[in-house]
This record gives sequence, C-alpha cells and structure tokens, in this order.
Amino acid sequence: MLVDSHCHLDRVDLDPYDGDFARLMQTTRAAGVARLLCVAIDLERYPAMRALIEPFPEVSVSVGVHPNERDVHEPSADELVALAGDPRVVAIGETGLDYYRSTGDPGWQQQRFRRHIAAARTARRPLIVHSRAARADTIRILAEERAGEVGGVLHCFTEDWETARQALDLGFHISFSGIVTFKAADELREVARRVPLDRLLIETDSPYLAPVPHRGRSNEPRYVAAVADCLAGLRGLAPDALAAATGENFFRLFERVPRVLPGEAAPS
Ligand SMILES: [Zn+2]
Repeated sequence: MLVDSHCHLDRVDLDPYDGDFARLMQTTRAAGVARLLCVAIDLERYPAMRALIEPFPEVSVSVGVHPNERDVHEPSADELVALAGDPRVVAIGETGLDYYRSTGDPGWQQQRFRRHIAAARTARRPLIVHSRAARADTIRILAEERAGEVGGVLHCFTEDWETARQALDLGFHISFSGIVTFKAADELREVARRVPLDRLLIETDSPYLAPVPHRGRSNEPRYVAAVADCLAGLRGLAPDALAAATGENFFRLFERVPRVLPGEAAPS
C-alpha cells in the first residue's frame, strides 16, 4: 500500500474533480494510496479541515501552527494537547523553524516550536517538523526539548546528510517529497539513498511540489507513487517493496492510524 505521510487536502485543487472532494478521494484510493496524513498549518482553518476529512477514515490529521504563519492565533501547549485528544489526531505539527521566508528575530518561531514539542510530549504524539535554512537550531531545539521521547519526522527533507544523521540519532524519521525527483537534486538523492529503510517516509506535500513527471501541476496525493518510484530506483528496490516499507514505517510512527479499516482485508 502507498501512504502519503504529509498533505494539505484542504488546499488541493478540486477543479479536475468538479469541486467534489469525495471524487478526489475516490481517485486517490483507486491509485492505491491507502492512508493519508492531512497536516494542519494554523488553527483558524483547522475546524474546516477536520470537518472535510471526517467522512474518510483513511485520512488522519495533525494539529499545529506552521512557522511561516506569523499573524495567526498563537496556541498554548495546553490548547494543542486538548485538540490532540481527538482520536483522529495522530501527530503534532507542522511545526519547526523557517528562517528562509521569515526575517528578523526568530525568537517567536523558536518559542512556538518549543511549545509544540512540549505538547507532543504531554499528548504522546509524534512531531511533524518543517525546517528550512535553520538546520542547526532545529536539531538543537529538538535535542534540548527531548523531542526524541515521542519522535517524529523531518518532513519534505532537503538538508544534507549530516543533518539527516543527527535527526536519525534523535530517533526521527526522514520524509522525502517530490523534490527528490527534481533534476537538480543529486545531492538530496544521495541522502535519500543513505537513510535506513526503516526510517524512511514518503509524502507529496500536496498541493505544493508536484514530482516529476507531474511538475508544474497542482500536486495531489496519488502522485506519491512518483516519489516511491524514484526512491525505489535509487535503492535498487521494487516499487512495491519501497511502498510496503514506508507504509510500515508510517503505521509504526503514527501508531494511532488504524491499520485495518472496515472493508479492508487484514494484513497478512
Ligand atoms: Zn506541509
């Protein structure tokens, strides 16, 4: 089974589906994508996102506020913990640091990141971490706040091997998006070859970053197959084997995601 470990379903372009979210989900399922993790960006839009995925048990959600969202409601750790009481919430995030798009003192991002880690530890949920142009501080804060107690994933990974190694040492997983298929991404493909198979995840980050050969289009979860094919090729595995391994990693990390849904065959 294919799993899209990180997507923003409330932002996917529904024009090809006549605006019908259920049709997008049907197409996604028919393409073999059996589980999805729909990731929150802020709390203002969270209730609508949560309502959107409610009828689709293959979709789990996270709660958190993205480091690029400056002028939004700033959640307390208690607030995040309360929201995580919902059984469909399997992770805290996305959180982290982004010094690329944000200027000035990053103190507010770091405080927010620390609160998310505290909430994850209290709620016993893994973390979905975004890091851009901030690798040293990301690793340092994860270590200082003992994020390894709950673990998580560095999503849409684009950093070097040294950063991957440090994250792996903290017990984290590494997730690759369509960026790994881009022509100029040789260095990243080298990192993707080295991440232990039992710590590897795949994602689309839909609607952003559509993989080759869909590049330039609005991304959607079924294109995760292109990420799986790329990683399988890099590692000399059959695409099915890569899909099975990353699927198993997903269930192990996000342990509240149901392994079997009504109507599905039990795993052999
Ligand atoms: Zn994202």
